[in-house]
Amino acid sequence: MPAFEPVIGLEIHAQLLTRTKIFCGCPTAFGAPPNTHVCPVCLGLPGALPVLNGHAVELAVTAALALGCNVQARSVFARKNYFYPDLPKGYQISQYELPLATGGGLEIEVEGARKFVHLTRIHMEEDAGKSLHEGFADSDRKTYLDYNRSGVPLIEIVSEPDMRSAEEAAHFFERLRQMLVWLGVNDGNMEEGSLRCDANVSVRPAGSAMLGTKTEVKNVNSFRHLQKAIEYEIGRHVDVITHGGRIVQETRLFDAAQGKTYSMRSKEEAHDYRYFPEPDLPPLVIVEARREGLRAALPELPEARSARFQAQYGLPAYDAELLTQTRGLADYFEATATAAGNPKAASNWVMGEVLRTMKERGVAIEQVPLAPAALAGLVRIVEKGTISSTVAKDVFGKMYDTGRTADDIVAAEGLAQISDTSALEPLVRSVVEAHADVMAEIRAGKDRKFQFLVGQVMKASRGKADPKLVTELLKRAIG
Ligand code: ADP
Ligand code: ZN
Ligand code: MG
Repeated sequence: MPAFEPVIGLEIHAQLLTRTKIFCGCPTAFGAPPNTHVCPVCLGLPGALPVLNGHAVELAVTAALALGCNVQARSVFARKNYFYPDLPKGYQISQYELPLATGGGLEIEVEGARKFVHLTRIHMEEDAGKSLHEGFADSDRKTYLDYNRSGVPLIEIVSEPDMRSAEEAAHFFERLRQMLVWLGVNDGNMEEGSLRCDANVSVRPAGSAMLGTKTEVKNVNSFRHLQKAIEYEIGRHVDVITHGGRIVQETRLFDAAQGKTYSMRSKEEAHDYRYFPEPDLPPLVIVEARREGLRAALPELPEARSARFQAQYGLPAYDAELLTQTRGLADYFEATATAAGNPKAASNWVMGEVLRTMKERGVAIEQVPLAPAALAGLVRIVEKGTISSTVAKDVFGKMYDTGRTADDIVAAEGLAQISDTSALEPLVRSVVEAHADVMAEIRAGKDRKFQFLVGQVMKASRGKADPKLVTELLKRAIG
């Protein structure tokens, strides 16, 4: 049986984070009552004329520049004609022959191997409305329509068929999401549909230069589902081909509950969109000065920032990657590191307690009430040995909940580390007396038991004893 090589290309729709829609002034806010964010333009009423949202263009160009694309000086909106109830105009305004940007790409890393995934193009378009097939008393007979989403600005990002496994595709989508959210271009919310992915999959005999027939899996709304859907599709293709069958080019949907894809429409049923240039909008012209202004305004990008964290602060690659997952987290870390004067300790706190608490409370870094300067105060007193790291975790929780400073809490609650021999000696003595058996075992060579005694003294001091001093005093007691 010949070995097969999977080939995958992704098409990603990302909602641009504008306040209003792409061709009218209606709000884009999610979750409003149905059909309250609509007007003649986004309802496609006769005579209504579209006016392009300048901020949407800026966001689209920003994304294109960050992804290394060539932003075209002139691009053209086109009508993509098809009939569907969620599309009141009978056409979607998109870009076709002349898209906003071409080329570019993103580097991904899977199991230590780096690879560059090329982009074909990025174009701007409007979203359609939403058909509601469920949730109403007469849903068995009727479909309801909500046009709030109609005319919401999108970019569609099309990749080349460069990926060779489901894992690579999921990584690429993750990287792309990280970038778009980092730029403030998209909110990354896949559940609400502001970021959606279609996967194109084919297989071919390993070593072949030709592409096999592809199928397209629509609207996969999580990284895990994307990977599962592609894996299923690869398996299905190989199975059909090895049994002498042929893959039919078609659009499929992923059923997450079953872990399977199923046919939505075949190529014969595919639309002929009869694209033509949109007569109500002039070509989109982006002059060099405007484009270069947006390029100059790009923030330091995730990869560059991760590299700088390693070079400037001596962080391990693991830390730098984790801390640059979002721009907010990277900012938080960097502010803490600078104020604390100890980047690795700051990194440990942010990767440890901060991320753990965020997860526990379900909040983003922007909602963490503890300012970096305050966290740095805690990092410093642990460094100085004023409090032990065990006590420090408690102090962190109290700082987070009350907004008090570390110094304040340590002073008010008498938490300072006990590094005073005369204060610790009585505790050591009582532990040694209470565990004469363990002492005998240690003297007989069972070194492992030593940590148990250290633990007992720490407990007796309610975590405040200086562990180094405890160790020293216990060693002395053992003799
Ligand atoms: P269509 O005309 O069906 O939309 P395109 O050529 O525009 O197809 O490509 C759409 C997406 O499918 C792109 O991401 C592209 O990389 C990918 N693609 C194209 N051909 C294949 C193939 N044979 N196998 C896998 N992906 C493919
Ligand atoms: Zn409107
Ligand atoms: Mg296409």
